[in-house]
Amino acid sequence: MIKDDCIFCKIGKGEIPSATIYENSDFRVFLDVAPANRGHALIIPKDHADNIFQLDGETAGKLFSLATVVARAIKEETGCEGMNIVQNNGAVAGQTVNHFHLHLIPRNEGDGVNVTWKPGETENNAQQELAKAIRKHV
Ligand code: 5GP
Ligand code: ZN
Repeated sequence: MIKDDCIFCKIGKGEIPSATIYENSDFRVFLDVAPANRGHALIIPKDHADNIFQLDGETAGKLFSLATVVARAIKEETGCEGMNIVQNNGAVAGQTVNHFHLHLIPRNEGDGVNVTWKPGETENNAQQELAKAIRKHV
């Protein structure tokens, strides 16, 4: 499914140009226009899904398999020491483009990129109960 007003559907189809690293019939991999770091890339399915809550598992599996190949390619070319894989779902989680995309962000010592959070505190019983409650939905 393609959504008419979706910028990443247009990039997927090639209607809007992008610095493309790789494409096949299902996916396009391209450089982020406002990168967190040099080599910051996005992987999108060509078929529209708003976010992880809509993405089908088979597509997700293929997409992450592709991510392993792209991650190594970016590492080889940029010489990055590490990489963050980031994937935002919903405005509240920082998603600004409502078409599923996986960020690959190369990382280097002292690069100033920040994708961290403040660690929270837990209590074992409550964690066990929450895990059990969520398990019912899996
Ligand atoms: P989000 O915040 O939704 O997880 O990430 C959206 C990303 O898409 C941002 O990092 C933003 O820079 C990138 N982006 C938005 N519009 C375009 C575009 O037209 N071309 C490219 N290459 N990247 C885009
Ligand atoms: Zn789309």
